[in-house]
Amino acid sequence: MNVNPRIMPDSPHMALEYNSVFKAQQVRAIALRRSTYESRVAQLRRLEAAIIAHQGEIYAALQADLHKPEAEADLSEILPVLSEIRHTCRHLRRWMAPQKVSATAAMFGTKAKIRHEPKGVALIISPWNYPINLTFGPLASAIAAGCTAIIKPSELTPHCSSLIDKIIADIFDSADVAAFEGDASVATALLDLPFDHIFFTGSPAVGKIVMGAAARHLSSVTLELGGKSPVIVDETANLTKAARSIVWGKFANNGQTCIAPDYAYVHEAVMPQFVDAARTAITAMYGDAATSADYCRIVNDRHFQRVNALIADAKTHGATVVAGGTSDAAQRYIAPTLMTGVPDDAALMQEEIFGPVLPIRPYRDINQPIREINAKPKPLALYIFTKNQAQADTVIEQTSAGGSCINGAMTHFLHAKLPFGGVNNSGIGNAHGYYGFRAFSHERAVLTDQFSASPMLFPPYNARVRKMIKLTMKFFT
Ligand code: NAD
Repeated sequence: MNVNPRIMPDSPHMALEYNSVFKAQQVRAIALRRSTYESRVAQLRRLEAAIIAHQGEIYAALQADLHKPEAEADLSEILPVLSEIRHTCRHLRRWMAPQKVSATAAMFGTKAKIRHEPKGVALIISPWNYPINLTFGPLASAIAAGCTAIIKPSELTPHCSSLIDKIIADIFDSADVAAFEGDASVATALLDLPFDHIFFTGSPAVGKIVMGAAARHLSSVTLELGGKSPVIVDETANLTKAARSIVWGKFANNGQTCIAPDYAYVHEAVMPQFVDAARTAITAMYGDAATSADYCRIVNDRHFQRVNALIADAKTHGATVVAGGTSDAAQRYIAPTLMTGVPDDAALMQEEIFGPVLPIRPYRDINQPIREINAKPKPLALYIFTKNQAQADTVIEQTSAGGSCINGAMTHFLHAKLPFGGVNNSGIGNAHGYYGFRAFSHERAVLTDQFSASPMLFPPYNARVRKMIKLTMKFFT
């Protein structure tokens, strides 16, 4: 559904409109190379004010699209964007300042600096699961870096996308920031344009398509992708804390979170106690989840059927439902579900679940989960609950993941000073704070030659110059 007629994707004029907005942004991007800290902060403050002013509409749109409760909207959509903007405004002057680089011995007689210059025109393609956060967050970084931006929000959350479009159209000149609603066809048409940077958040499968399209223009990319993020609970862990953190991480937004714990390894000595603690945590947080105002819904019927099919497939592979397992198609409701005995070849262990189902697997020796995690594509997040710091270090050192928490889940996302991103299959590049600013900036080396000795090494390579080159090699190697 496209609520705003201004952006009907199948309008015959749309390709022309994409082009004309893109061209206007190319012109603006050149002017923005000289944009000041003050002008960027003014844009960021405008975005901040608009988000605050539209808070009620944001709640309503998230409720309509995802049944997202206000508290979750505050915590996971509005707060992260406002903190991103405030953190950026606080530090941007320093980030923008050219960084002096001292001369190496070979570069005696020169001075050097690194300038963070705006990459230019950016494309931001965002997903549906945190539509406000994952659209305005990257936009804040693009503005901070001095880029212009075209935004393509997800078609799966039409109320949010329409609101995003309205906010952008209200507060920005389209030569600075523009939004085009629509599905993959709109993204495909936009990807034909030679963007200077593409910031994509979504699935690894579509990430590959985006990177392929970017290659046609050698556009740089940030890919914020997903995958199966494991959590390990060892025999020393505080089980109540672990269960509460994992249940919150798994069932917030109905499991439709890129960094949700996807599946759990629990040491066999504490497996029954962990399952009990997880059941208790589910009841404490949601009571009867079917009637709880705090429990979200699956975004659409296709995903509802997909997640139900994963549960059914796991059962046919011999898995047991130890909590939840019920659903209601009319509501797109799936109960918070815990499963044990899920074998490797069940689809639940093969693909990103992205729904409220947690497979729990016992292990005896920590090398087993490490081996199995390393056999899968690198995850976006990996969590470990333990009181044994050496055990945590072993797991972190012997695996690879975008980010990790020890004795926590998902909270690394909220740390403004940490890079947020994946690795290989779970992503390329980073977002948030300084790292988001860097994603949209080119680090340009600028060297001023004051009185360097390099002219003494120029041709013709006669005996004197050869001797100088030999001396230089001897001295500096
Ligand atoms: P998706 O890849 O299906 O869609 C993301 C965006 O890409 C949408 O705007 C969509 O319209 C667009 N798109 C779809 N097909 C396209 C195509 N062929 N060409 C170009 N664009 C296309 O992802 P989703 O279902 O919206 O989100 C779920 C996925 O995103 C999960 O894998 C999740 O882990 C991941 N995710 C990652 C992060 C992160 O920060 N790393 C955050 C949220 C979600």
